[in-house]
Amino acid sequence: MSNKIMNTNDGHLLPLNGKRVAVIGYGSQGRAHAMNMRDTGIDVVVGLREGGKSWHQAIADGWAPASIESASMDADLISMMLPDLQQPKVFNAQIAPNMKSDAAILFAHGFNILYGSIKVGPGHDVIMCSPKGAGPIMRREYVNGNGIPCLIAISNDASGKAYELSLAYAHAVGCGRAGVLQTTFKEETETDLFGEQVVLCGGLTELIKAGWETLVAAGYSPEVAYFECLHETKLIVDLIYEGGLARMYEFISDTAKYGSLTTGPRVITEETREAMKTLLQEIQSGAFATKWKKEFADGETNYRRMLADELKHDIEEFGQNVRKHFSWLK
Ligand code: NDP
Ligand code: MG
Repeated sequence: MSNKIMNTNDGHLLPLNGKRVAVIGYGSQGRAHAMNMRDTGIDVVVGLREGGKSWHQAIADGWAPASIESASMDADLISMMLPDLQQPKVFNAQIAPNMKSDAAILFAHGFNILYGSIKVGPGHDVIMCSPKGAGPIMRREYVNGNGIPCLIAISNDASGKAYELSLAYAHAVGCGRAGVLQTTFKEETETDLFGEQVVLCGGLTELIKAGWETLVAAGYSPEVAYFECLHETKLIVDLIYEGGLARMYEFISDTAKYGSLTTGPRVITEETREAMKTLLQEIQSGAFATKWKKEFADGETNYRRMLADELKHDIEEFGQNVRKHFSWLK
């Protein structure tokens, strides 16, 4: 079923008039949400653990950060911007006991609500504003007068005004300039996990590495292979982002077009598509969430080892040298 995309305007901010928003966590998303809302004119308090890395960042950005407990006490809307698996413990111990009885809570991802790791009392609106992009990009676009799109959703409408409140938030963080799409916690969570695993992060990095490794193993120079398999992905994606597949096809050579059309399906095969369906089923059944929660509970040893190995991949070493020559990168 297709869905309507809307833009917002300052009129949509009304539900946040005279309200205080507590942004809990000041990492990728938290910093962008807090700074964008402050610039929009919203009364924002940042709630953090004292002395942490982001505590110092927040002070450098001109905030007077509060503890998570005291930020939660004063807020009409609590924006939950901690890493997903850190949220349940912090919510139960530091936020829930301090929340005003009618405060709303907002998530940027539906994971904990969908998979039942956070249970919010019935008196609270439970809403979502999930920006479709990383925090630093969201901040950069806001400062440039632009925005990135977001999904909004409502899990509990205690006030009867949860929809209006989510739109107000989407406008306050600048997403209404790019487009707001209403969805459900279930659709956002399942598609977000699928996208990051299959296409955006897992799929893309594996494609880049596999292409690079194939060329290097065949004796081609790692630097040339880097430009072909990693660097140019951005240039192609920029075209697709601006004007869809048509714009990419408009700008690449006939040889590239013919090659791409005839060989793409030999790379992403029926077998790959079957794997995608299996991965989607693991997300839908909750099997992925269970596996991730277990890894977290066990101290994340495998996760940290896999991440460290990934960052030691040869393409990273060659990439660092190549990028030293990009005069615009400091
Ligand atoms: P980050 O990992 O960037 O969050 C880091 C922040 O959380 C820091 O302020 C850190 O404090 C704090 N923190 C971490 N653990 C704890 C803890 N146990 N107690 C108190 N504070 C803690 O998170 P993201 O911005 O990546 O994710 C936030 C939410 O946004 C998630 O729900 C995620 O799914 C969602 N999201 C993320 C996107 C992204 O681009 N990253 C995109 C869209 C949605 P300290 O500095 O003290 O360690
Ligand atoms: Mg995600």
